[in-house]
Amino acid sequence: MPDAIIDEAVRLLRAGGVVALPTETVYGLAAAIDDRAAVQRIYAVKGRPAGHPLIVHVAAAGDLPRYAAGSHDALERLARRFWPGPLTAIVARTPAVPDVVTGGQPTVALRIPDHPLTLAILERLGCAVAAPSANRFGRVSPTTAQHVRDDLGGDVDLVVDGGPARIGVESTIVDLTGDVPAILRAGAIGPTALGDALGVPVVTSAGGSVRAPGMLAAHYAPRTALVLVEPDALPAEAERRQLRGERVGVLTLPSDAALAARGLYASLRGLDAAGYDVVLAVLPPPGEANAAVRDRLQRAARETAT
Ligand code: AMP
Ligand code: MG
Repeated sequence: MPDAIIDEAVRLLRAGGVVALPTETVYGLAAAIDDRAAVQRIYAVKGRPAGHPLIVHVAAAGDLPRYAAGSHDALERLARRFWPGPLTAIVARTPAVPDVVTGGQPTVALRIPDHPLTLAILERLGCAVAAPSANRFGRVSPTTAQHVRDDLGGDVDLVVDGGPARIGVESTIVDLTGDVPAILRAGAIGPTALGDALGVPVVTSAGGSVRAPGMLAAHYAPRTALVLVEPDALPAEAERRQLRGERVGVLTLPSDAALAARGLYASLRGLDAAGYDVVLAVLPPPGEANAAVRDRLQRAARETAT
């Protein structure tokens, strides 16, 4: 009965709890934004280094001025077009956003997640939550409630089961604090749609900076070594390794970009659990639609390939 779950989540968040919440991207591990100790617990549970900022999730566009300082023109354009949805915007913060949430940075990452249960919880709570993905630091993000339980078990006060995540990869992060809007993390919403909504071109950050922890090479990594191969080379590479006695898993993704993203993390978890020595994966072809899946696969491979 959803109403009882919503009440229970709100009660726990008000009492300083950490609660795993469903969103359309991945599951988040949430604490009330104004509860310093609860936010600290998120870092402890995840094993996330302090100073890596968390995304602030709000219920509605009307809540944005509470947390976003300065001009809201760009933010309002994005809100009208994409929110609730898989987009995070970085803007100057107000004093309502504590240091523990932003890692001391003068900016805040804001988004309105698109999941009815979580929106109802945020509305009833009456304030924002800070929430990173509900996985141990550096591991693959959870896209089902069971993934969260597998990863974090009894370390969280409640897991709200909202079904499998519809998008399946983390939100696009766009930084609005510079001279031009810049994408810091690829997601379901690409530079063309963003530029269209903002009325100015959006650049894609080269990825050299680690201002956003999602940009660390050590992110999104399965435990089993992941090796990227060209499609033509896949059969020969699999055979070569099998002849060496390796147990070889193959990650095949649907050619539809949205479906590939939706199933990516569950596939990586499944392959991880199967006990292969190595997983071979073919990158989807370049292009905006595949940017997020290519990015996550490249990070996963960079972390573990030998
Ligand atoms: P995760 O917590 O795993 O979903 O990742 C959250 C992402 O949002 C990370 O890449 C964070 O670094 C990024 N982020 C949150 N707040 C900020 C901020 N103020 N400036 C830059 N990146 C941020
Ligand atoms: Mg994460």
